[in-house]
Amino acid sequence: MLNTQISIVAPLYNETESFPRLISRLNAVMDESPLSIEVVLIDDGSRDNTAVLMQQIALTDRRYQCVFLSRNYGHQIALTAGIASACATEALFIIDGDLQDPPELLTEFYRKYQEGYDVVYAVRKKRKENWFKRFAYSLFYRLMRSISYVDLPLDSGDFSLISRRVADVLKQMPEESRFIRGMRSWIGFRQIGVEYERDARLDGESKYSFGMLQRLAYNGIFNFSEYPVKLITRMGMITLGIAVLYLIQTLVKRFIYHDVPQGFTALLFVIILFSGVQLIALGLIGEYVLRIFFQAKGRPLYVVREIIRQQERQPLGSLNNSKS
Ligand code: UDP
Ligand code: MG
Repeated sequence: MLNTQISIVAPLYNETESFPRLISRLNAVMDESPLSIEVVLIDDGSRDNTAVLMQQIALTDRRYQCVFLSRNYGHQIALTAGIASACATEALFIIDGDLQDPPELLTEFYRKYQEGYDVVYAVRKKRKENWFKRFAYSLFYRLMRSISYVDLPLDSGDFSLISRRVADVLKQMPEESRFIRGMRSWIGFRQIGVEYERDARLDGESKYSFGMLQRLAYNGIFNFSEYPVKLITRMGMITLGIAVLYLIQTLVKRFIYHDVPQGFTALLFVIILFSGVQLIALGLIGEYVLRIFFQAKGRPLYVVREIIRQQERQPLGSLNNSKS
C-alpha cells in the first residue's frame, strides 16, 4: 500500500483488554473508507500482552505498522514516536488506543481537512468520567486559556486530524517536555474544532496516573505561558508594597503618637509567611531550571526497540534520529 493517504496513530500502554475491540473498529473504518489508510500503533513499553498482540497484527495485516519503544515513556512521547514513523501523505489521525476517541469520526474530520483546514481537533461535549477528573480538566483548560500565549481551544485534547505539513513541523520541534495539543496550536495554519462526545473507557483502567496528569498540566503551563515567572515578580511587588505601608504606619505611630511598636507574634507570622512565599518563588524558578537542564542534555526523546512494517513503505522522515 504505497501512497498512504491517512495514518491513524494510536499509542498503547497495557491495553490488552481493549485491543481486540480496537482492531475490529479500526478494520471497520478502513474497510468502509475509500481512502488508503495505514494504522501506526505504538507500544509504550507495555508490561502485559499488548506487544505480542501488536506483533501478530503487524505480521498478518499489511495495513498495520507497529513501533515498539524500549520502555514506558509516557503518552506524549509515544505519540511523538508514532507521528515520526507515520507515512501518510495527506494527514495523520491521532486517537487514544482505548477507544475513548471514536475512530469512526475520521470521515467527518477528513471532510474538514478537504475544506482546507490543517488541524481538525475534537472538542469534548461531555466527558463520561468521575466528577473530580472532570472538574480538574475543566479548571486546567480554563486556567491555560487565561494565562497561555498560544490560543489553546477549550476542552480539546490530542484527538485530532493534522495535515502532513503540521506533522512535519511537529517532528522538527525538539522540545523535551512535550504538550502536543499546545504545540499543535502554536503551529498555526487554519484550525477548527469539531464537537464530539467522549466515550467512557470500555475496558481496563486509565493509564494516566494522577502524577502523570499533573506533569502534563505542568508542561502545558510552563511551556506555553510566562505566567509563573511573572507571578514571582508580582508577588514581590505586592509584598514590597505591603512592607512600605507597614513601615509608614510604624513611623507614624512612633514619631507622632509616641507609640512603641509591638507585636512579636506578628513578626513571627510575617517571617513564616514570607519564607513560604520565597520558597514558592524558588520552586517556580526551579521548574524553569529543570526544564533547561533536561533540554540542555539533548538526549533523544525515546529509543525504539523494534519496528514492524511492510518492507516497501518508507516513512517520510528519518527514523534513526528519534528527535526528528
Ligand atoms: N498511554 C501511553 N503511555 C502511557 C499512558 C497511556 O501510551 O504511559 C496511552 C494509553 O494506552 C491510551 C492513551 O495513551 O491509549 C490515553 O491514556 P489513558 O486512556 O490512560 O488516559 P485518559 O484517557 O484516562 O486520560
Ligand atoms: Mg483513556
